[in-house]
Amino acid sequence: MRFNAHTHFPAHDTGETGIVGIFFTQNPEPEAPYRSFGLHPRYLPDANLSPALAWLNDRLPGAVAVGEAGLDKLCDTPWERQVEAFDHCIEAATQHHLPLIIHCVRAYDEVLAQLKKHQFNQPVIFHGFDKHPNTARQLLAAGCYLSFGSALFRENSHAAEALRVCPERRYFLETDMGAVALIEVYKRAANLRGVRKKELEAALWKLGKEVFLGLGH
Ligand SMILES: [Zn+2]
Repeated sequence: MRFNAHTHFPAHDTGETGIVGIFFTQNPEPEAPYRSFGLHPRYLPDANLSPALAWLNDRLPGAVAVGEAGLDKLCDTPWERQVEAFDHCIEAATQHHLPLIIHCVRAYDEVLAQLKKHQFNQPVIFHGFDKHPNTARQLLAAGCYLSFGSALFRENSHAAEALRVCPERRYFLETDMGAVALIEVYKRAANLRGVRKKELEAALWKLGKEVFLGLGH
């Protein structure tokens, strides 16, 4: 089984399974066996957050993770509103004992500080990772997981370098908006890490079950 840690589309291939991420205001909300719901910083209401909070609380009993949630310095949403929404997502994930899938743009220190403030102790996955290996090391040292996708295909990308520094069991693969097929991401990652694709599939499916589906060992 090929495991997809973050996608926006239900899998068509029976050999794949993934966490389908749904954000507030998304319509329709795709059906899938494993879904995450989050207050994405780019898609927050203009003023009052309460409809978004109510929506999240309503959806979480059927979710396997909270996310995407996080902070984004390149979007138009006012910073205070992003922080408030992220606070709520952290609290909701704590309450429901769920992992958190992070959307982070130029705000790594702030995201880590906010997680620390809440003493968040569920798994944290930074999705779409494409930063310098030093940032990867900082997040790994904080106990977080990294998830890699289409950035692995860019020439000289930081993502490819960062993937190489990840220890076993600390990274995932994903397709996000679907620019590249999951099987291609696995082939690329296997190549970069010098392992066989089949082994990688088995390892990440095992890890995915443990981290997201509560199915250990
Ligand atoms: Zn996404």
